[in-house]
Amino acid sequence: MSRVYNFSAGPAVLPEEVLKEAAAEMLDYRGCGMSVMEMSHRSKMFTDILETAEADLRELMNIPDNYKVLFIQGGGNIQFSMVPLNLAKNGVADYIITGNWANKAMKEAQRFIDAKAIASSKDKTFTYIPDCSDLPVRENADYVYICQNNTIYGTAFKELPNTKGKTLVADVSSMFLSQPMDVEKYGIIWGGVQKNVGPAGLAIAIVREDLIPAEDLPKVPVMLQYKTYADNNSLYNTPNCYAIYICGKVFKWLKNRGGLEATYEFNKKKAGVLYDFLDSSEMFKATVVKEDRSLMNIPFVTGSADLDAEFIVAAKKEGFENLKGHRTVGGMRASVYNAMPIEGVEELVKFMKDFEAKH
Ligand SMILES: *Cc1c(COP(=O)(O)O)cnc(C)c1O
Repeated sequence: MSRVYNFSAGPAVLPEEVLKEAAAEMLDYRGCGMSVMEMSHRSKMFTDILETAEADLRELMNIPDNYKVLFIQGGGNIQFSMVPLNLAKNGVADYIITGNWANKAMKEAQRFIDAKAIASSKDKTFTYIPDCSDLPVRENADYVYICQNNTIYGTAFKELPNTKGKTLVADVSSMFLSQPMDVEKYGIIWGGVQKNVGPAGLAIAIVREDLIPAEDLPKVPVMLQYKTYADNNSLYNTPNCYAIYICGKVFKWLKNRGGLEATYEFNKKKAGVLYDFLDSSEMFKATVVKEDRSLMNIPFVTGSADLDAEFIVAAKKEGFENLKGHRTVGGMRASVYNAMPIEGVEELVKFMKDFEAKH
């Protein structure tokens, strides 16, 4: 068996320890004679998996008691709909457009409500985060929405926007559990888990209780109401049991590594290896301004599309997979999520130095 260094933006690399454990438990989960895929979601076994996962996540992120942790099927895109459908009492929301995912979220919201862009970095192909210290947040806005780490463009908010007292909603899909977060600064933190936490098809939403509508919303499908998940411990219907199980293992893995503080230090060091090289290379250049760089997704270019293509092919031959940039951006992108070992980045840099020397 040989494993590659997988720089995919998502679905993405998972900790090898977690995959090995899951493999060992595949046929017989802890003596119960069946796989987690085969057990009732209402069994004691699965209830324990779900409750332990939630407790570990609460501990990792230091989630206050007045926030619900909801496990919701459908991944990221479903949250683009659920946020406006559940939160927009006035039918008004302001979006900060820092890339495709924020834009998609706004476009989806516009199907239901008055959603407006109050800032954007589109003028420079989303290579920076706009100044969000004094935005024209509307008086009656129900929330201000950000995508906190921009998977495609490789930017991240280092400071949260000034929402002028409005509820902040953040898509953290591609930075979930990569650093400590002050949960109380947000109304909702949500993430699709397939970037940094687990298998695709599941989103985790951390929602302040008072934002969950107390009454049924008659025009909103039951499965798109946060209340449905909150009232039923995410067990209204059959949840994505296996994905929750893997996420639970990743939470334990993070706890064993020292939690999010230690993970953050590790991520800064790891991303630094690549950024330092990019800033010193004659051939390879980072595309994002220094102060807004993501620790998770690192786009770079040579300046020549032909050379980019040649590099990607050569890298693949050496076991560096999925370095091609997003189809809307071109160039290269290395996603270096929590589970990417630092050796993966060190080896990549070594390979890039070689490539540069030969060209
Ligand atoms: C991948 C991604 C999404 C979309 O997730 P899906 O599960 O494919 O719907 C949304 N937001 C961000 C920031 C992402 O990286």
